[in-house]
Amino acid sequence: MENPENQPMRPQFFLAKQLTKAHLSVASCFFCRKCSGGCPLTFAMDILPHHVIRLALLGQEEQVLGSETIWVCSACQTCTTRCPNGIDIAGVMDWLKEEAVKRGRTIPDAGVMAFHRFFLESILDAAGRVSETRLLRRYTLYKMRRNLNLTELRQNINLGWKLWKRRRVRLFGPPTLRGKAEIKEIFRQGEF
Ligand code: SF4
Ligand code: SF4
Repeated sequence: MENPENQPMRPQFFLAKQLTKAHLSVASCFFCRKCSGGCPLTFAMDILPHHVIRLALLGQEEQVLGSETIWVCSACQTCTTRCPNGIDIAGVMDWLKEEAVKRGRTIPDAGVMAFHRFFLESILDAAGRVSETRLLRRYTLYKMRRNLNLTELRQNINLGWKLWKRRRVRLFGPPTLRGKAEIKEIFRQGEF
């Protein structure tokens, strides 16, 4: 007879069920913590990625949707790659962000939300590709309007200059892709 402890938990709570419906099941998590062990941003998180997964599984919606962690996550995918159970933790984080916005939750740092928006606008403008220069310019202007910090501005300009010299960013936007209309349609369907 199989040991019931080796069986994945059956999602019983609303949040876990919704994640399963979105093809982001967290039910097979056995709490090994490999996701948190590889995450480069845990220093800035209030709860660790494996806690997010466990709390989602246990239906602790308030804690998960109100956590700073989901907004700190940069979707680098390290956790997803490391998970022995193939749980798409980065995808879960993204989904939780969307859910928090849908439910009108307060976002701990409005700058994160603005960055997301500028990122998507940049893809829409360049028809499928991110223009780092445009993205950074918009975000820097946004930050300056909210709180003009000359030291930070100088640091960002220096960083941009170094990146440009090493050809890591383009001064002008990337060449646009074919299928501009399709990309616009994707955004339209996503109600962006
Ligand atoms: S995707 Fe998010 S949670 Fe996962 S390792 Fe990267 S920053 Fe951490
Ligand atoms: S790596 Fe996967 S199985 Fe391990 S704690 Fe994280 S989500 Fe759970």
